[in-house]
Amino acid sequence: MDLSVLVLPGDGIGTEVTREAVRVLRRVAEKWHHSLRLSEGLLGGAAIHQTGTPLPEQTVRLATAADATLMGAVGLPEFDNAPPDRRPEKGLLGIRRALGVYANLRPVKAYASLLDSSPLKNPLVEGTDMIIVRELTGGIYYGTPRGITEAGGETRAVNTMTYTRAEIERVSRVAFHLARARRKKVTSVDKSNVLENSQLWRRVVTELGGEYPDVALDHMLVDNCAMQLILSPRRFDVVLTENMFGDILSDEGAVLAGSIGMLPSASIGDRRPSGAWVGLYEPVHGSAPDIAGQNKANPLGAIGSVAAMLAYSFGLREESSAVERAVETVLDTGTVTADLRPSGAPATTEQVGRAVCAAIG
Ligand code: NAD
Repeated sequence: MDLSVLVLPGDGIGTEVTREAVRVLRRVAEKWHHSLRLSEGLLGGAAIHQTGTPLPEQTVRLATAADATLMGAVGLPEFDNAPPDRRPEKGLLGIRRALGVYANLRPVKAYASLLDSSPLKNPLVEGTDMIIVRELTGGIYYGTPRGITEAGGETRAVNTMTYTRAEIERVSRVAFHLARARRKKVTSVDKSNVLENSQLWRRVVTELGGEYPDVALDHMLVDNCAMQLILSPRRFDVVLTENMFGDILSDEGAVLAGSIGMLPSASIGDRRPSGAWVGLYEPVHGSAPDIAGQNKANPLGAIGSVAAMLAYSFGLREESSAVERAVETVLDTGTVTADLRPSGAPATTEQVGRAVCAAIG
């Protein structure tokens, strides 16, 4: 198969973890005889430095031409007080929008060998296996009007949370589809006791649920969900929610997995005429300026994102499972970075990447 992949390393540890993810992708292509065409583009702070903008036109062109995009992370402390248009994170929102990837899939799994890394008690976490489906291109992160204004001696800030029926329907369909291949349960999370936006969300999800009678649907308020994720994470299978709630809840999920460095994500849009899903794959974590450049970052979230790419964009289930099994093998052997608190000396980012390649065989 011909695999055309754009790599956007971004900033900080983004460059370090994508290097290892690409190493794994090359290994898979070699072993299963796929032809791999890699291109590389600029995004985030690195792009601002070289072109003055966080999302250069050239990057959008490359992403539209590739079958799938693998991204690291963006963000540099020097831009923390920059105006919104000159912030690296603007590039992230821009590329998601340019590719039209509206459903963000974040699997959260408690690996047996990492149970001790979770700050929660083992019996609570053991067996956790859920996927959070977060709406990605709507809601309060994109709604207008937005901004900070000065009037009559007062400063006022406004953001707008907006959703249409169509936006809710398409992301809900992704959640119901995924549930069918899993334990057939969707928990839709909203704040319908306070927000009209959430009332529409709940109504549309409920109506759509009628088309999937084999999938059990329940609804949960976001504040309760934040609590239940910690108290009884095993009860969740597919968690469906809007953009901002999903952003927050999926970081909470990171605690269950032992480290935010473990979590992959896949952002999916519509199907291409070829049948492949448009996809943007990235670890959940940010650019981690505190450990950047030290070969300390955990690359397994980025490597898990490669596994997701193989499955969702290319339909290569065998290759995808092989990467996931290799990750489990590496975890079992204890070749892990410092964030997973190994009993012996921590491995470097590169050592973990090489160990995964070796485990693929
Ligand atoms: P972060 O995820 O970068 O880091 C949070 C903490 O987790 C840090 O202590 C970091 O060292 C640790 N960590 C993160 N990834 C790790 C890994 N792979 N291995 C080991 N430890 C890891 O979040 P932050 O500190 O809030 O943000 C830093 C910058 O990243 C900011 O500029 C922020 O805007 C940006 N950010 C980008 C993305 C993205 O590109 N998708 C996501 C979140 C934050």
